[in-house]
Amino acid sequence: MSRALVIGAGPAGLMAAGALARAGLSVIVAEAKPSVGRKLLMAGKSGLNLTKDEPLERVLAAYSGSVADLVRGAVAGFGPMEVSDWARTLGQEVFTGSSGRVFPKAMKASPLLRAWLRQLDDVGVEIRTRWRWTGFDGTGFAFDTPTGRAVLHPAVTVLALGGASWARLGSDGAWAPWLAEKGVALAPFAPANAGLAVAWSDHMRKQFGAPVKAARLNAGGTTLRGEFVISSRGLEGGAIYAISKAVRDGAALTLDLCPDWSAEDVATRLARPRGKATLAAHLRKSLRLDPARLALLMEFGRPLPQGAALAALIKALPVRHDGLRPIDEAISTAGGIAAAALDGFMLRALPGVFAAGEMLDWEAPTGGYLITGCLATGLRAGEAAARWAG
Ligand SMILES: Cc1cc2nc3c(=O)[nH]c(=O)nc-3n(C[C@H](O)[C@H](O)[C@H](O)COP(=O)(O)OP(=O)(O)OC[C@H]3O[C@@H](n4cnc5c(N)ncnc54)[C@H](O)[C@@H]3O)c2cc1C
Repeated sequence: MSRALVIGAGPAGLMAAGALARAGLSVIVAEAKPSVGRKLLMAGKSGLNLTKDEPLERVLAAYSGSVADLVRGAVAGFGPMEVSDWARTLGQEVFTGSSGRVFPKAMKASPLLRAWLRQLDDVGVEIRTRWRWTGFDGTGFAFDTPTGRAVLHPAVTVLALGGASWARLGSDGAWAPWLAEKGVALAPFAPANAGLAVAWSDHMRKQFGAPVKAARLNAGGTTLRGEFVISSRGLEGGAIYAISKAVRDGAALTLDLCPDWSAEDVATRLARPRGKATLAAHLRKSLRLDPARLALLMEFGRPLPQGAALAALIKALPVRHDGLRPIDEAISTAGGIAAAALDGFMLRALPGVFAAGEMLDWEAPTGGYLITGCLATGLRAGEAAARWAG
């Protein structure tokens, strides 16, 4: 029986392992951490958003990066419907939440992961934890293992080591120089779905932890209404992640603090008699600004202009920030193995070595697109690797 090696036991690697085993190969999964799927389990802490229930064209349009076409091809065959069916085969009924996000009813990842591991065990996949790939040894793959150094010479390999964020969960990007040395083209890692760093004035301390619910964000061509949170480090949360690519690409970010009203409506409301009220009280009352939005206006807008200029500022408040938060805090990473390095899912420079998941150069917003992309590319890379070995 041909021996297949999968390195990395996240969603992409486990999917590849299943495909290889079902094709009749003997499969070893090498995982650096003491247990598997740590990022998947972390993703489940805030509700495991497996996929997005929306027309396939919209799903496919969510992917970008040099490898986006390859990912789209995989997701076209293993997309929202297939991901939901797959979860059901693991005993995890799914439901569609707000804005089409699909979650397992259990919300967390652990029951799904447990059932998945049982299924992989049934088809003979052997998982070796605390097996850290440390680079190449000639044509072999060298590992630090609990019993010392080991070098494997599999017939075929799928690399699924993840991106370069949340290193404590395993995906530290250490593999990039080893592949670069072999002539594999890489796009530099960059934070995706990341928060914004803001050096707040002391006035903002009271707002740390406050959600901002009613604002519209505009950055480059990206505009959306959504929620985010003011934190001690800056601005975080779904709506900020959604504009982070545009900000990374150099777009300025503005906030519309009164998205339900036109600039004229805002100006009319501001022109109401103020009486003895302070400007802050007047803004709060006439525009129904909650403390968080009022604080943002003061922080980024002072000294406040008057009349129509103030209305215009409230509709397009420029956010002063210090760029994206560091890559290790990002939900996902852009960059990685570039399209030029790939023939399908196989590395041109290393025949018989395939790659899948977040280590490829693609990105997508949050909303389930990431896990769907990892599952789909893992499956297709595993199938391609099995065909190559066969
Ligand atoms: C807080 C958080 C919440 C998220 N929520 C969601 C969500 O709800 N929906 C969604 O779609 N996506 C979400 N994501 C993103 C999603 O979890 C990732 O995109 C996905 O896990 C990537 O899968 P992967 O298999 O490519 O890599 P990973 O899941 O990162 O797995 C890679 C594996 O490779 C192992 N590894 C790395 N280096 C080595 C080595 N040298 N030797 C051996 N093993 C190694 C790692 O330990 C790890 O187990 C979230 C991410 C975070 C951080």
